[in-house]
Amino acid sequence: MSGCEQPGLLPMEAALARLLALAEAAPIAQQETVALADADGRVLAEPLLAALDLPPWDNSAMDGYALRLADWQGEALPVSQRIQAGMAPLPLQAGSCARIFTGAPLPAGADCVEMQENVELDEAGQVRFCQPLRLGQNVRVRGQETRVGDCVLPAGTRLGPIELGLAASLGAAELRVRRRPRVAVLSTGDELVEPGQALGPGQIYNSNRRLLSAWLQRLGCAVVDAGILPDDLALTREALGRLGDVDLILSTGGVSVGEADYLGLALREAGELALWKLAIKPGKPLTFGHYQGVPVIGLPGNPASTLVTFGLLARPYLLRRLGVQRIEPLGFAVPAGFAWRKPGMRREYLRARLENGRAVPYANQSSGVLRSAAWAEGLAEVLEGATLEEGDSLRFIPLSEILG
Ligand code: AMP
Ligand code: MG
Repeated sequence: MSGCEQPGLLPMEAALARLLALAEAAPIAQQETVALADADGRVLAEPLLAALDLPPWDNSAMDGYALRLADWQGEALPVSQRIQAGMAPLPLQAGSCARIFTGAPLPAGADCVEMQENVELDEAGQVRFCQPLRLGQNVRVRGQETRVGDCVLPAGTRLGPIELGLAASLGAAELRVRRRPRVAVLSTGDELVEPGQALGPGQIYNSNRRLLSAWLQRLGCAVVDAGILPDDLALTREALGRLGDVDLILSTGGVSVGEADYLGLALREAGELALWKLAIKPGKPLTFGHYQGVPVIGLPGNPASTLVTFGLLARPYLLRRLGVQRIEPLGFAVPAGFAWRKPGMRREYLRARLENGRAVPYANQSSGVLRSAAWAEGLAEVLEGATLEEGDSLRFIPLSEILG
């Protein structure tokens, strides 16, 4: 243990490693076939193998003239055919060139394309090439992108616009994907009411339900809305018991140290509970357990804590259950636009923006202030035990890296 770790606090890496191990032990393995148009956000269940060469034939990268270099001695050449994209050309006639356009197949026998800007046409319509020519110039060779049988996308790839475009280029009309995880979102707290209702004394609006539901949908999950659960053990048991057919119950609130933790009590009765005190801020407490076989993750209730713990822990857990290997968000080193003189026991994820290339934190970093994250562009990571002077380097994780 290094000097800056506190006994009893679980470092981020250890928490993530535990969650990923739990995820690998409980894969959501069922597959289905979906049309390409419905595959955005899904996870590829089988590798995508190329069914064709790309491009399928040699073709022109330019609008210009195709010729056979070995047969050409510098003379002007007549134009023997005109080949547009979508046409099937005739073999190149000896002693001629072919008018050709971008993406059109090269005629058999041609091995070079000169762009139209570099030629002159004489009165007889013959083409004079003004620049030296090189074998293969402006030719996109068959199979230069992909060969039949290549693994173009491995299983476990998350499908987005680029992957779908690539699959389409290979003629795939459907893809095998993992089925959507069913995730129940449960908000706990006597104080919570939904937007649209009047606030009574001591009440606040439920922000986590919308935050998590929208986020889960972006991750390709089917959200089961389990509503608001009052702080009550019997009702908690009952609610958990009703959610037997989901892949994950995601609860927020009621895991703060010191508070009556009904989720924890119910999970403990059902036999399985781990309460982790994470060495991160915001987001110290996190519960993991099973209720009647269904995995349950209890996130802290303060919205900025919910954001950080879902984004950095529950999100990778879910993706790993779908077989996604690359779950680490890309972060990059930036200079701190602030000083940090009091080393902390917990790793801080400051909601921050980049201003002139430097990470500048939102003024109020309270875990209850979701506005900090709406203002922010990313999480600036201050390691446990670290101090920083302005200009020192820290890791910046763009929110866009974790929000989808
Ligand atoms: P708890 O973990 O239940 O003690 O909640 C910690 C803080 O987060 C309290 O201030 C709660 O009112 C707040 N909180 C819990 N759940 C929600 C929620 N769904 N939406 C907004 N605030 C919440
Ligand atoms: Mg509560």
